[in-house]
Amino acid sequence: MENDYFSHLSSEEKHILKDKGTEAPFSGEYNDFFEAGIFVCRACENPLYESNSKFNSGCGWPSFDEGMKGSIKKNKDLSGGRIRTEICCKKCDGHLGHVFEGEQITAKNTRHCVNSLSIKFIAHNNLEVATFGGGCFWHVGKTFRETKGVCLASVGYMGGNTLNPTYHDICKGNTNHAEVVHLYFNSEIISYSDLLKVFWSNHNPTTLNQQGLDVGTQYRSVIFYQNNTQKEVAETSLFEQKEKWKKEIVTQITSAEKFYRAEEYHQNYLNKNNLGSCGL
Ligand SMILES: [Zn+2]
Repeated sequence: MENDYFSHLSSEEKHILKDKGTEAPFSGEYNDFFEAGIFVCRACENPLYESNSKFNSGCGWPSFDEGMKGSIKKNKDLSGGRIRTEICCKKCDGHLGHVFEGEQITAKNTRHCVNSLSIKFIAHNNLEVATFGGGCFWHVGKTFRETKGVCLASVGYMGGNTLNPTYHDICKGNTNHAEVVHLYFNSEIISYSDLLKVFWSNHNPTTLNQQGLDVGTQYRSVIFYQNNTQKEVAETSLFEQKEKWKKEIVTQITSAEKFYRAEEYHQNYLNKNNLGSCGL
């Protein structure tokens, strides 16, 4: 008898989830998809992955560096003359894909390679947005990605004079774009004010257009507020910080502009793409 979880699926979905098929690379709807939410099993709706763990490995299938606790089962797979580890949904046993370790793409050193047809995206509703610039966005991005209540942290550019900037453009330092981290957060778990505390404690707000060895306007300390409430909270927070620093705080507080998501190799990457700072 067929598992009830599979009865509502299309034949394409059944081919993947039930018969352990594989969709064509670069064909799935979630291969190049980065929004805040969770991915659940398409058969049984078991929550499997958070959007923060998703990265673009270039392999053509959605890649995640961590599954949600207790949601995924692993089996040894000897098909195709290779030794691989299959991953399945723990609840319905539906086939998701394979997991690979030791590739050194992200810090967790794990890549869950998943068929888009095995999963379904559910957006987080009522999330708030925050954007901060505090030097090299790899470090700032990592810090916020590990902050509880932050559902999605993307790195990119904001506040410059050119459209669709690339990393190459902003490295020249004359477009005035700042390297930023752009967050979706759940304010019931972490307040904007607490996010600001994370921001202050992870960079030096007293060095103008500079963080450590990184020099240029792209490394400026800046808070891009989304609305007047954020603006007021940011101003209060800056005022409170003054007594903690000997030198004057040079952080800008300015209205958010269009966020340009950085090239994929900047997102979630820590090890393999250790390319050095862009000022070098
Ligand atoms: Zn399932």
